[in-house]
Amino acid sequence: MVSLNDQLEPILGGKSAKALAAAFDIRTVHDLLRHYPRRYDERGQLTDIAGLELGEHVTILGRVLRSDQRRLERKKVWLTKVVVTDGHRTLECAFFGPRHLSNALRVGRSALFAGKVSIFNKKLQLTNPEFHPIDGDTEDTDIEGFIGLIPVYPATASLQTWQIAKCVRQVLDMLDEVEDAMPMELRAKLSLADYGESLRAIHVAKDWPAVQAARERLKWDEAMAVQLALALRRKAAGARPAPVCRRVDGGIRAAFDERLPFTLTAGQVEVGAAVAADLEVEHPMNRLLQGEVGSGKTVVALRAMLQVVDAGRQAALLAPTEVLAAQHARSLRELLGELGRGGELGGAENATRITLLTGSLSTAQRKQALLDAASGAAGIVVGTHALIQDRVSFADLGLVVVDEQHRFGVEQRDALRARAGENVSPHVLVMTATPIPRTVAMTVYGDLETSALRELPAGRSPIGTTVVPAAEKPAWLDRAWQRIREEVAAGHQAYVVCPRIGDEDEESTSDDFGNRPPLAVNDVAPMLTEGPLSELRVGVLHGRLPADDKDAVMRAFAAGELDVLVATTVVEVGVDVPNATAMVIMDAERFGVSQLHQLRGRVGRGSAPGICLLVTEMPAGTASRTRLDAVASTVDGFELARLDLEMRREGDILGAVQSGRRSALKLLSLLRDEDLIARAREEAQALVAYAPSLEYFPGLARMVADLVDDDRAEYLEKA
Ligand code: ADP
Ligand code: MG
Repeated sequence: MVSLNDQLEPILGGKSAKALAAAFDIRTVHDLLRHYPRRYDERGQLTDIAGLELGEHVTILGRVLRSDQRRLERKKVWLTKVVVTDGHRTLECAFFGPRHLSNALRVGRSALFAGKVSIFNKKLQLTNPEFHPIDGDTEDTDIEGFIGLIPVYPATASLQTWQIAKCVRQVLDMLDEVEDAMPMELRAKLSLADYGESLRAIHVAKDWPAVQAARERLKWDEAMAVQLALALRRKAAGARPAPVCRRVDGGIRAAFDERLPFTLTAGQVEVGAAVAADLEVEHPMNRLLQGEVGSGKTVVALRAMLQVVDAGRQAALLAPTEVLAAQHARSLRELLGELGRGGELGGAENATRITLLTGSLSTAQRKQALLDAASGAAGIVVGTHALIQDRVSFADLGLVVVDEQHRFGVEQRDALRARAGENVSPHVLVMTATPIPRTVAMTVYGDLETSALRELPAGRSPIGTTVVPAAEKPAWLDRAWQRIREEVAAGHQAYVVCPRIGDEDEESTSDDFGNRPPLAVNDVAPMLTEGPLSELRVGVLHGRLPADDKDAVMRAFAAGELDVLVATTVVEVGVDVPNATAMVIMDAERFGVSQLHQLRGRVGRGSAPGICLLVTEMPAGTASRTRLDAVASTVDGFELARLDLEMRREGDILGAVQSGRRSALKLLSLLRDEDLIARAREEAQALVAYAPSLEYFPGLARMVADLVDDDRAEYLEKA
């Protein structure tokens, strides 16, 4: 008999154990049993082909509709084309190889087909997919042996779902009774099934109700582990002492408010007051500020930083990129005017100093900057996360503002909290323009208070977004470049965004089947300057440029010395050039929904209306096109964030392998399980209030430990 923590190798043999470890980092019985089926197929029911995504490894159950063979020119290889149907749509499978092909591919047969979705001749296809017959006279019973539903596992090109199914069955046959980590009372209260039984039922799926009950139970385990971890963390973080920063009359913050060139929006006033109150408390603020691109988060942050300066302490502003850090420093200096020129000629009496710390400073400049931070001469230090987190010491750090960081996980926040030294944690304000659905806020940012800026300052113009189907309507693409020329003729500027930098990238040649790689900045820029935009001043910006060049290009664009900026997603966050009114996004299907929304937020920041063109060669009716159409149809960030979650989940359901690593949230959907997550949060809070270190609940404590010390605290990055 075996138990959950046993290694797989002695049970399954070296070959299978190695394959599982390589593909999914599955090593123990528990790992394998938590590799849940992605979905189930019912015999006789075929998989919906409409939802397939380019580039994903999928397994579909389909019926062979047609097949034909031909010999490839001058080669000894035959190409067998098998057209598979789900009853409505068709999908082509191309097999390159010898003439003889399995009986299983005869017309009328059903089989599981597994492979990577590619595009050929503008149609989706699977190239050399693995297949496994489902009906008829096969002696292979690995899958048939499962009563009820056919489990379809997340699989890879070298480890198919039917092979995984076989391993799972082998393990289940030998599994001992499993101890339940959840206290009996809690299980009774929530009407949850037994853990061991659920682990079994999710793989050996008798019928849908049995699967449902098992999933419900296993979801609760996922939700509870995360929520307990967060509740413990909140408790610990909130208990630490923090630097008290009181509001004062006649300070630099008051002086700044006086010279503000605009009126604050109601939201800015409200959030500003909440933040100000937090800073006065002797425990650290841990707050997340959400607000659409252009909603004016910087001013809120600056006013908080000035309150800290008024208290004689320092504030740090962390940006995700050097470009953005430099821009922040510039715009803070501009907003502050003489109030930001502390120690300089012409500085106001109570002025402070803003110090920029980036990798591109000269040694002497950097030395000075580090000195300013350490001596306290700099009231505000602006830099990238990496730089400030690792190397800088502060005289008296009171507040850290983290800007535009979607992936600013709990670990990073912990590292920051440790910064102020000796048991004191600085206040932390995290800002993001990516709207975060409630469930994500409850999990990924579950240790933070949240507030939001929901309105844009008056006078902003709308962004019109259009999908440009370059394959079906090439003329539309010409028209797109013409639009850019028109915008520039009207005195405006434009961005052209590409998914790739180019040149040294891997994957830069098209593969054997004619799939071209995503478009690259280094190819598109010359194509434009030699073609449709030859009259315009075109600059290039991407992450591989030396920092000096990046800054110079950004400056030139901001100063209007460039008409068009061909760039990667480095322009995604925070770049603020109000005169830019148009954006063309090439191979737009390569970007996520939220990312597209972020990107287009770069235009329409001034008073002229912005346009965003999403160029794609994906055929109409594909999931990618649907996603692009959705982005074009709304500018509501919350709606799009929801959609983004949904789409990603759909990717999961279709069998995408999540970047190799295991995630702690496998069944739990941040989209559909909002109620469950909210209830788990309540239960977790109550449990931690009653037993602050879960001392009466050893099972639950183990669950949390499992989640936290496993370096897969990747649940934090799931969203
Ligand atoms: P984001 O929330 O995207 O970081 P910013 O803070 O960069 O937005 O603000 C965008 C622009 O709007 C800036 O130029 C800023 O000076 C301006 N702004 C901020 N608040 C207001 C306001 N209340 N009225 C008018 N303009 C504002
Ligand atoms: Mg910003």
